[in-house]
Amino acid sequence: MTEHTITENYQRVMADIAAEATRCQRSPDSVQLLAVTKTHAIDKIRQAYEAGARDFGENYLQEALVKIEQLADEDHPMKDVRWHFIGPVQSNKTRDIAAAFDWLHSVDRLKIARRLSEQRPDSMPALNICLQVNLSDETSKSGVALHEVGALCEAIAPLPRLHLRGLMAIPAPTDNYEAQRAVFRPLSDLFRELQARYDQFDTLSIGMSADYKAAIAEGATIIRVGSAIFGARNR
Ligand SMILES: *Cc1c(COP(=O)(O)O)cnc(C)c1O
Repeated sequence: MTEHTITENYQRVMADIAAEATRCQRSPDSVQLLAVTKTHAIDKIRQAYEAGARDFGENYLQEALVKIEQLADEDHPMKDVRWHFIGPVQSNKTRDIAAAFDWLHSVDRLKIARRLSEQRPDSMPALNICLQVNLSDETSKSGVALHEVGALCEAIAPLPRLHLRGLMAIPAPTDNYEAQRAVFRPLSDLFRELQARYDQFDTLSIGMSADYKAAIAEGATIIRVGSAIFGARNR
């Protein structure tokens, strides 16, 4: 990976998106690339921006807040970018998340959603959120169980300062395309069911560096890609 530049990697992922979407009779524009920048330095984020990235994902709040401020502040501030929080959310972090991000992919509790809705600043549009679903059924992992998603949607959809956009998941890694698709399928089925019920449901956030092609085939509208663009993380 290190012999390729971030620009080359970014372009390769974009080409993969176009090829896989076309193969599945989807428009390449229907899949958005979220560049996952956790642990990566400002200059790498800027390189991805120069290559065309406009959506950036971070997992650790303190790290993210420093970067967001720095990148808005430099001589050539990054304009028209959207910051997505994709890490676990503790309730003492909701105020800062509500004030700094455009999207939050990892809501899995009503209590967190209520706090975010109360704390979203009036000067900002409603916070876009996805519910994180646990597909691997491990009680230790975050995410709401598939059979509880419907009830959580009903409770969260009316919250005034949140815009419930869809579902997100991080399944356990599997290394072949068909197996990856099979893991995503129950979620994409549920997503289509909920789309019939909620007008604003338009986002299925699945797929990472190792499985984004399978995710696109299963209807991903946002893929979250880190190492395939930036190389391995050393944390
Ligand atoms: C780190 C991370 C990613 C990106 O993972 P890669 O395998 O490096 O593409 C995507 N989503 C979440 C929630 C992550 O924490």
